[in-house]
Amino acid sequence: MDIMDLKRCSRCVLPETFPGIKFDQEGICQFCKQAETLQNIVKKKESRLDDLGKLLDNYRGKGRYDCMVPFSGGKDSAYALYLCKKKFGMNPLAYNFNNHFQTDVGRANVEKVLKGLNVDLVSFTPKWEIAKELSLRALEKRGDFCWFCNTGIWSTSIQRALIENIRLIVFADGEFDLERYFTGKINELQFREVVQERIPETEFIGNALTAEELKIFGLPLKAELDKIDIVFMGHYMPWDKGEIVQLLKDELDWQEGVVKGNTTTFEHIDCWASSVREYLKFYKHGFGRKSQLASIALRDKKISREEAYNELPKDGFIPESLPDFCKTFGITEQELFIIMEPHRNPKLKKIAS
Ligand SMILES: [Zn+2]
Repeated sequence: MDIMDLKRCSRCVLPETFPGIKFDQEGICQFCKQAETLQNIVKKKESRLDDLGKLLDNYRGKGRYDCMVPFSGGKDSAYALYLCKKKFGMNPLAYNFNNHFQTDVGRANVEKVLKGLNVDLVSFTPKWEIAKELSLRALEKRGDFCWFCNTGIWSTSIQRALIENIRLIVFADGEFDLERYFTGKINELQFREVVQERIPETEFIGNALTAEELKIFGLPLKAELDKIDIVFMGHYMPWDKGEIVQLLKDELDWQEGVVKGNTTTFEHIDCWASSVREYLKFYKHGFGRKSQLASIALRDKKISREEAYNELPKDGFIPESLPDFCKTFGITEQELFIIMEPHRNPKLKKIAS
């Protein structure tokens, strides 16, 4: 059996091994249907921007900052910060969660965007021993080491916003369709489900991780949490990667960059471990970044089905950054694959790798 023999969605090309995928009678997956709903929303571009402007007005001038924008230096959060400041005239506080995997080009872009937009930044870096332990334990639990970063961006920005008396957090894109889960308020159940991927921070207590240390990865009490509203910019407008990158280059001198192991020069260039994550996704589920981008482009009718199929064999190569990754975490490549094995889709185990 070959990876190309997997059953795939008749509209996009996601395979039967994609987590949670379900096909209808016509063989169309639920992600295609959800994307269609979202596309219908963003078609009303102008009226939605008006809505966003009115919404943001409610938070203007209430404190030292009007809102917080979680900001990695990557294209999406840079664009969200740009829109807040330039299009809507807000006074945002940029918030950076440093996951210890920042790249030189990512750091340079943080600096350029901050200077270009003239906004304040606060940054938080969790202790490396905690980041490392959480990464390894999340890898064992889910075959994905990104738990502490995915969770920390949310939990620590919420906690910091409360300290700064900020009432609105502005997130960028909905590439992972988080806006389907969160509108307006942060629902604790959905935070547990979607952001923490059903691993509450308390599940990590033990092995040098104390309840006190793990608090930064949890939510504040409900009365505090209810003071914070959230909004996704991507919910109010089309989110065209190409156009965004061009605008950031023209307006803020934002740069693309070659990051070891990455497949593009503009996506996830702020985090050098992201190529390992993409590879591990491929290892577990039989689809990687190229397949995912091809699926999105197919749904947007930007490429043909044949072109999408041509992209699929480009996934699944061990990234150049894997040795650095293993060294950073003090494990061998063999140990990494032993940890990953239980998380691999059984259908893929029949495919020689
Ligand atoms: Zn589909």
